Amino acid sequence: DRIISPQVRGSDGQVDRAIRPQSLAEYIGQPVVKEQMDIFIQAARQRGEPLDHSLIFGPPGLGKTTLANIIANEMGAEIKTTSGPVLERAGDLAALLTNLEEGDVLFIDEIHRLSPAIEEVLYPAMEDYQIDIMIGEGPAARSIKIDIPPFTLVGATTRAGLLTSPLRDRFGIVQRLEFYDVQSLTTIVRRSSKKLGIELDDEGCFEVARRSRGTPRIANRLLRRVRDVAQVGGDKLVGQKVAQRALDMLSVDNQGFDHLDRRMLLTMIEKFDGRPVGLDSIAAAVGEDKDTIEDVIEPFLIQQGFVIRTSRGRQVTKRAYEHFNYQLPQDLE
Ligand code: ADP
Repeated sequence: DRIISPQVRGSDGQVDRAIRPQSLAEYIGQPVVKEQMDIFIQAARQRGEPLDHSLIFGPPGLGKTTLANIIANEMGAEIKTTSGPVLERAGDLAALLTNLEEGDVLFIDEIHRLSPAIEEVLYPAMEDYQIDIMIGEGPAARSIKIDIPPFTLVGATTRAGLLTSPLRDRFGIVQRLEFYDVQSLTTIVRRSSKKLGIELDDEGCFEVARRSRGTPRIANRLLRRVRDVAQVGGDKLVGQKVAQRALDMLSVDNQGFDHLDRRMLLTMIEKFDGRPVGLDSIAAAVGEDKDTIEDVIEPFLIQQGFVIRTSRGRQVTKRAYEHFNYQLPQDLE
């Protein structure tokens, strides 16, 4: 129950439809990704071909699904959406693929969670726009090839390293989303507050932005909680003070850390004395599963320079000690 959980929760979905960017121009930040995608999309359109298969990776809440939808919009194509864990049988994927129209985008979220049998169906589909279907059983069984319309597969995953290499190799375009800087997040918060009719001044936008863990989904969620606090407190225009009060109440600190981030850092400082420690030990001590730590908690702490990865495990940095006003042990100085 993290207020700053980057995963979708609560009313995120409904609010999202109102504020989700629809075009590349509305997609804020990620300048490198935007510039490249703009060129690739224009080139594909000029040739009248579908865009190359594209893989988007990055921590949850950074805009992978949004970008997939934008790709379809900019290509003037329809998008069909599914996810790795939902596709259980090869037939599920075959049905989706044979129902595509030429140029459609097939978006597979959590693509690292496809079963091997389903990946096998995907390879010839991606490469030759064909699928092999087995008909009959026993000695009479034979496989027939079915053509499917040229399409674009857009895959999303939290870590590119989770994909098998034959699958990864079949993507012509690979984009990595980075955590957003405070400036971009401030722009996102300003845009969302306008769309939602919340009067938030510049300092208020900045305050929400800098506590959002570099993640647009969190920024939008904090914005809604700030609105609640302002509304109940009778503040019409939300300034920095109201925003601060709301975010303090939610225990989101000025680095954007919540209780889980703090617990991980404090565990590494107090239980492991700031020495390198393996992921398993951290997970056990913090009481979270390894994947959550690796996909959700740790990337931001690493990006912000509070944790580093060493050959002997994860280690907290001087910044982490300073954040909690702790003295750095002498042997670590
Ligand atoms: P992911 O698929 O990576 O988990 P989403 O695409 O669902 O993340 O993004 C979460 C929300 O954050 C979106 O609904 C959208 O409102 C907002 N968002 C994401 N990226 C951007 C961006 N570049 N500019 C503005 N808003 C964004």
